[in-house]
Amino acid sequence: KYYYEQDTILDRLLGRDPVSIKAVDGLDFEIHEGETLGLVGESGCGKSTTGETLLRLREATDGQVRFDGQNLFEMTDGELTEFRRRAQVVFQDPFSSLDPRMTAGEIITEPLEIHDIAGPAERRERAIDLLERVGLSGDQIDRYPNEFSGGQRQRIGIARALALEPDFIVLDEPVSALDVSVQAQVLNLLEDLQAEFDLTYLFIAHDLSVVRHISDRVSVMYLGEIVETGSVEDIFESPAHPYTRALLESVPRASADEHGRRVDTLEGDVPSPRAPPDGCRFHTRCPHAREACRAEVPADIEVESGQYAACFRNVDDHPYWRSEPLAHAEVNAGG
Ligand code: SF4
Ligand code: MG
Repeated sequence: KYYYEQDTILDRLLGRDPVSIKAVDGLDFEIHEGETLGLVGESGCGKSTTGETLLRLREATDGQVRFDGQNLFEMTDGELTEFRRRAQVVFQDPFSSLDPRMTAGEIITEPLEIHDIAGPAERRERAIDLLERVGLSGDQIDRYPNEFSGGQRQRIGIARALALEPDFIVLDEPVSALDVSVQAQVLNLLEDLQAEFDLTYLFIAHDLSVVRHISDRVSVMYLGEIVETGSVEDIFESPAHPYTRALLESVPRASADEHGRRVDTLEGDVPSPRAPPDGCRFHTRCPHAREACRAEVPADIEVESGQYAACFRNVDDHPYWRSEPLAHAEVNAGG
């Protein structure tokens, strides 16, 4: 899409290497070197699929994913091995993602073994060092996952992801399974490690408050599409898409604020991603939906510098403004 090309030119001018991604359904976005891009949306919207596709854990049916300019799906075996070293993942569930029969040391050094890096003694040294860097103790190296708490297990998962000295890590809901009291500690650790090792993160979450804490930019996903992207400030202070506003408001509350103004709340069920609604995919639930939203797919509009949203309401002279409200939206608007 045009604005990503502009971004790419900007990146070249600034000497940055953009990591471009195209995945799920017409999804088009970039993660810039050294940043954390938060990817948020309700469960089932395609966030994890996106993460898996851009790690090539899943094949894309069409489109491309570029990592440092190289298309993942056209890499030679050697290039793919190097990509597998440079791009890592931390999964949501620190209970099921660690093999219970392997010690912490074996878990952390397994990627080194697979990539045939260093001998056993040096690998063990590295594992001790990594345990310490993630806030555990080197003496815990021979313990099994069940001897660690949830937060500690996630630290082991992070140490494993760091073992190959990657550049890019997909963090797929890395704190969602943890107690709230432990979440902030793990988020702080991830931020420290990012600074120390010059890491680029894709941080997947359904919890906006977690994303706000750690991200530089945020993309909001709905039914396999990104509906809004912007800086953390843009997304939280001046969201431009009704779905983003609804997510921000999604704590249960009445559908009008204390001044009687209507706020955007999420009504109705999420449609099946296999048969998404025509036009704007959000039109079946959007409180501002009009006939035009059913007829046409909204393009991404740059509403502010660096903030993009796909909603007709951001286009002053769009036929949207002259079309009839849809029934559910009228009901909402009358309330
Ligand atoms: Fe709502 Fe229409 Fe905007 Fe889609 S295009 S978010 S349905 S107002
Ligand atoms: Mg998921």
